[in-house]
Amino acid sequence: MEQDKLWQAVLGDIEITLSRGNYLTWFKNTQLLKREGDRVTIGVPNVFIKQQLERKYNELVTQTLEKNGVATPAVDYKIQSVAKRNEGDEAITLPATSTNPSSTATPRRTNETDKPNQPTLKVANSLAHGYRQGINERYTFDNFVVGSGNELAYAACQAIAANPGTKYNPLFLYGGVGIGKTHLIQAVGNAVLATKVDARVVYVSTEQFVQEFVDALRYKKNTDFADFYRGADVLIVDDVQFLAGKEKIQEEFFHTFNALHQANKQIIISSDKPPREIPTLEERLRSRFVWGMSIDMQTPDFETRCAILQIKSELHHIQLPNDVVDYLATNVSTNIRELEGALNQLLAFCEMRNLEPNLAIVSGLLGAAQTRPKHLSAKQIIERCARHYQVSVEDIVGPKRDKDIVVPRQIAMYMLRSELHLSFPKIARELGRKDHTTAIHSVEKIEKESRIDADVRNALAEIKERLYA
Ligand code: ADP
Ligand code: MG
Repeated sequence: MEQDKLWQAVLGDIEITLSRGNYLTWFKNTQLLKREGDRVTIGVPNVFIKQQLERKYNELVTQTLEKNGVATPAVDYKIQSVAKRNEGDEAITLPATSTNPSSTATPRRTNETDKPNQPTLKVANSLAHGYRQGINERYTFDNFVVGSGNELAYAACQAIAANPGTKYNPLFLYGGVGIGKTHLIQAVGNAVLATKVDARVVYVSTEQFVQEFVDALRYKKNTDFADFYRGADVLIVDDVQFLAGKEKIQEEFFHTFNALHQANKQIIISSDKPPREIPTLEERLRSRFVWGMSIDMQTPDFETRCAILQIKSELHHIQLPNDVVDYLATNVSTNIRELEGALNQLLAFCEMRNLEPNLAIVSGLLGAAQTRPKHLSAKQIIERCARHYQVSVEDIVGPKRDKDIVVPRQIAMYMLRSELHLSFPKIARELGRKDHTTAIHSVEKIEKESRIDADVRNALAEIKERLYA
């Protein structure tokens, strides 16, 4: 298409004018949407990029258009959802950067024959990836069951969602793993976005924040990094305990915190322990973390666990018998992630064999689970995934990108996360990948697929069954 060619030419010129990081961050996912007379409309993936293009790069864009034969008095920038731009691409909730496992591949330079919407360049740093808002729409207040242990946190989150930045700033939620911290703080993000679509809601895991910061230093993009996080209206930072011992990042976070707090922007933080118990956390950060409101979240009680099971099984259009619900809620009492895991295992088992869930099945399954070996290794998981798909371990950890290798690799990444709770950089290393964003994408992809695709669920259940057999 002629428009595509024109925009490719413009991008080609812009690419050589800007640093690689800037080009990738601001221009990679843009396209020419419309050209009517002398008016040109450019599609951009999100509001951050829109603002930056308007404020900082507008002149460059107009001049480069002119150089390519299109004199325009004004360029319009229009936000266009990823879903529209990559039609047929299922990864709508994933970052605007490539969601494809091929992102670990050798970078390809853009050239004339490349289609404009396809991510053709490797993201040189994960900063570009961070410009997504990071909110998973699955986590809402609606599907969060309120009960003892989480009601205070729930109320605070709702109050914040109604009026971000006004009270409880920062909100510091802490508690053990798998009890709904991420769910709740993401629900705030979704609720804010539901009432104010252009709010800049940024969710970031501390792991990702750290990685982006390291990349920003490496690629000398510290200012972009700082600007991005300081431009948020609501900044949600998950699992802040991972800041422990990282001095430089703590300092960066301190400045970000101050900038946002002074501007009355909402900050929400989660952690597995209270600020005073996070080792080697700088005193000045510690004191700021308790400026607003700190709330201790506890594992929900039995009734709440039952309600959660009911909600989650309804999502699968299955009504569990009461005794099955009771059994699960009694026997899996430590955290909700495990409870969900047990439920999913039960549902997959029954689906595979075309059975109705009943007490005998669930007690059989859970009994088996309780005798699980404690020391499952990454190697065992990778081997098991390879064997399941009848491919070799060398292929899984090697460079091949054929579909029949990529899927087992993604499944292996997912299982390293779900079974061993490894960090994303560690998962990437186990599979011979340099870039941990691939691990993030893979885990998210399988997580999403396992909800909608019975084949994926069955594969996971089968692999697990063998692993723990
Ligand atoms: P954390 O961040 O505390 O480790 P998550 O927020 O990831 O835990 O929760 C683990 C899983 O349990 C998620 O799938 C979440 O949706 C679910 N969950 C936790 N608490 C609740 C709740 N009260 N209602 C519904 N689902 C919940
Ligand atoms: Mg969490």
